[in-house]
Amino acid sequence: TMNVAMAFAFLSSLYGDFMKAVGASISIFNLMDRVPEVTNEGGEKIQPFPCQVDFKNVSFTYPSRPDTKVLKDITFSMKPGSVVALVGPSGGGKSTIVNLIERFYVPDTGNIMLGGVNMAGLDPQWFRKNISMVSQEPVLFACSIKDNITYGTDATDEEIEDAARQSNAHEFITTFEEGYDTLVGERGVRLSGGQKQRVAIARALIMNPSILLLDEATSALDAESEHLVKEAIDRAMEGRTVLVIAHRLSTVRNASEVIVINKGEVAERGTHEELINKGGVYKKLVLRQLSAGTLTTKADININAADD
Ligand code: ATP
Repeated sequence: TMNVAMAFAFLSSLYGDFMKAVGASISIFNLMDRVPEVTNEGGEKIQPFPCQVDFKNVSFTYPSRPDTKVLKDITFSMKPGSVVALVGPSGGGKSTIVNLIERFYVPDTGNIMLGGVNMAGLDPQWFRKNISMVSQEPVLFACSIKDNITYGTDATDEEIEDAARQSNAHEFITTFEEGYDTLVGERGVRLSGGQKQRVAIARALIMNPSILLLDEATSALDAESEHLVKEAIDRAMEGRTVLVIAHRLSTVRNASEVIVINKGEVAERGTHEELINKGGVYKKLVLRQLSAGTLTTKADININAADD
């Protein structure tokens, strides 16, 4: 029989998987437009959709871990049309910030404002129609590529193709005999990581979102795929307000503002240049990533390069 210590060891061995499962279920909730916590349907709608987001002294604790404050007094702004990059060590709270913008959870204290209005009073469904998230490991459903791009919206074939072209997906999709009707997943074709990401970008674009949330992939894609994904992402970012969890120097270099999140707090903020010149935690982080080899592209290696 299992004694207490064994049970504990067993449970903690499951904990990692459990956390992964929690992560996965969040993505699926996202895809299915469901809301674990925020359910106040029918709140206010602002026309036209404002693209300014302000975090004001936001603190947050996950309901499942009441003893750990994950975000502490976070304040920052996303100005319309700007790109804000979140960087920082693993577990610092970057994804949690994104989760809060998506309104999977509500802050314990402080406010998140959209166009100067507290998000708590806004209609979550209306809000979600205007934002898209491209995650690091996009979840594709076991259905056609077309359905994976539209997922529930009534986009026309023309709109679907347009989104796929913009995200560099049209070309590989049309190499399949059944084109957009090709099944993906267990019973269908297996897509590469880069192809999955491009389908996910097409899915994000079909919504024509005002705000784009991105979690840049850390896993290295092959050079060709990497280039196609990067190009698709750059195109998707154009004219939108973007919050990106950044892993590439080329992204942070172009960001309007870089915010370093460490242990749930804003450790530093500024442009890439400013933060490198400052020689603080950001610079250390960049140097550490360089020596750990987690910066992948050629441009990443030369931190002083003026461009890509
Ligand atoms: P990474 O770069 O590794 O993705 P991160 O900076 O995005 O990390 P978060 O994922 O926001 O960090 O995690 C911040 C803290 O919150 C961590 O301690 C993490 O274990 C915890 N956490 C994340 N998601 C949940 C959840 N759904 N329930 C409980 N705790 C969570």
